[in-house]
Amino acid sequence: MQHRHLLSNEIDLLLDGEAGFGVAPLRAHVDDCAECLARLDEAQGVADALERLPHFAPHAGFADRVLSQVQIVEPWHVAALATARRVVPESRPLRVLAVAGAGVASVTISASAAWIALSTDLTMGSATVLTGRLRDVIMDAATQGLELLLGSAAADAVRANGTMAVTAAGVALLASVGVAAFGFRSLASASRQRGS
Ligand SMILES: [Zn+2]
Repeated sequence: MQHRHLLSNEIDLLLDGEAGFGVAPLRAHVDDCAECLARLDEAQGVADALERLPHFAPHAGFADRVLSQVQIVEPWHVAALATARRVVPESRPLRVLAVAGAGVASVTISASAAWIALSTDLTMGSATVLTGRLRDVIMDAATQGLELLLGSAAADAVRANGTMAVTAAGVALLASVGVAAFGFRSLASASRQRGS
C-alpha cells in the first residue's frame, strides 16, 4: 500500500483503467483509503456525466470558414515561387517561347552594356586601364565563340572590325532565332496533337 494519498494523474490512471506497471499499488491504496476512494468516485461521476453529454460536431466547412479569416504570413520564398508559377506558362511550347524571350532580353541587355562600355572607352581613349582590359577579355571570348560557331574567317573579320556590338547582336540573333523556331515548332506539333 502507498503511504501517501493519490495525485490527480494517478486517479486519472485508475479512471482510464490502465493496467501498467505501478497501477496495482494505486489500486491497493484506494481499497484501503476512504478519502482516495471518495475522490476516485467523484472523478468517475464527472467522467460519466461528460460521457452522457450530447456529442457535437462542427458544421461542414467550419474549418475552411475559420481559416479564410486567418491571416497567414507566407515566407518570401514561398510567395516568390507562387508568383513564378503564375508567370510561367503551363504548356511546354509556351514555356520554350518564354525562355527564348528571356534569353533574347538578357543577351540584348548584355550586348547593350558591352556596347556602352566600348563606346565610352573609345570616346575617352585609353583613360582607364580596367575598361580596356575588360573589353579585351570580352572581345577574346566573343571571337573565340564565333570561331567555334562560324570558323576563323568570321572571327578574323570581327577582330579586324573590332565592333563588339555586332558580334553580340549576331550571337543573340542566332540564338534567339534558333530557340524561337524550336518553340514555334513545338507549338505547332502540340496543336496538331490536340486537333487529331
Ligand atoms: Zn489516500
